[in-house]
Amino acid sequence: MAILFDKIALIGIGLIGSSIARDLKALGLARHVTISSRTGETLKRAEELELGSQYVSSAADAVEGADLVVVSVPVGASGAVAQEIAPYLKAGAIVTDVGSTKASVIAQMLPHIPEGVHFIAGHPLAGTEKSGPDAGFTGLFKGRWCILTPVEGTDPGALAKLQEFWQALGSRVDEMDPEHHDKVLAIVSHLPHIIAYNIVGTADDLENVTESEVIKYSASGFRDFTRLAASDPTMWRDVCLHNKDAILEMLARFSEDLAYLQRAIRWGEGDKLFELFTRTRAVRRSIIEAGQDVDAPDFGRHTLDNKS
Ligand code: NAP
Repeated sequence: MAILFDKIALIGIGLIGSSIARDLKALGLARHVTISSRTGETLKRAEELELGSQYVSSAADAVEGADLVVVSVPVGASGAVAQEIAPYLKAGAIVTDVGSTKASVIAQMLPHIPEGVHFIAGHPLAGTEKSGPDAGFTGLFKGRWCILTPVEGTDPGALAKLQEFWQALGSRVDEMDPEHHDKVLAIVSHLPHIIAYNIVGTADDLENVTESEVIKYSASGFRDFTRLAASDPTMWRDVCLHNKDAILEMLARFSEDLAYLQRAIRWGEGDKLFELFTRTRAVRRSIIEAGQDVDAPDFGRHTLDNKS
């Protein structure tokens, strides 16, 4: 594949940053890839994994001369990173991020971006519950959506170049208003994680069902929630704090609908339950038809189930 950028700086080299690094290397999309991470330990691991061509402890040093800067840190840290790198950014460079919330990231980063540098926030809708440089893999973004959230005044040329970058990684790219992104993601991603954290927490707190019983019989549904509930605590703390309004709005709606379900169960209203469960089954079918999952997602479970 053709070189898209001479130098790319990756600030943060966890699951997302290291997956980008692996793709850049596999596809040869940049001549130089400079990596920076907050701790020496993560940076050393990135070097051992040969994820880039240069490893520097300071984000400010990493961005010098970079044509594209990709910030892949927890959303609550994005403002501090922008402030640190701002004076060292090359004129004409594109700065982007991969954070799971967008309005807050833009509010934190944009004020620091100097004139002549293009900042366009983004969010690849791809990931797993794992974190750190070892968790990344090539092809993470293939067939997945990446949402870019340009704002008024965003340079169309820089936007087109960033689109080309994500498309080269195999993503399908959409554009969205940042606030709308945050609402959509609140329902498709943030709420499911919060529900998973909650149900697993409830099971963990139960007094009349033992922990060993919860684990032993988990295949009947509970374990599907545990994958989401095993997601990175720092990342998800930040998502909750930085998409507060949209999450609270969706949680209020969720609680109302749960009360409806509770009532239908209490009053034995089987028709209502059946109608809802039929509707939700159709949603699953649509997701498979849209190529966003396969009919039999297994996460290695097939082998597990055969053993039991
Ligand atoms: P990760 O695997 O935990 O890696 C986080 C990276 O950020 C590491 O390099 C870490 O450095 C650095 N970091 C952590 N705290 C920092 C701080 N306070 N200041 C500066 N750097 C800091 O995380 P990830 O899963 O790649 O997530 C990165 C971003 O991608 C997040 O904004 C998240 O919302 C977004 N995202 C995640 C997923 C997903 O499924 N995981 C999907 C889409 C988007 P050290 O290790 O050196 O501390």
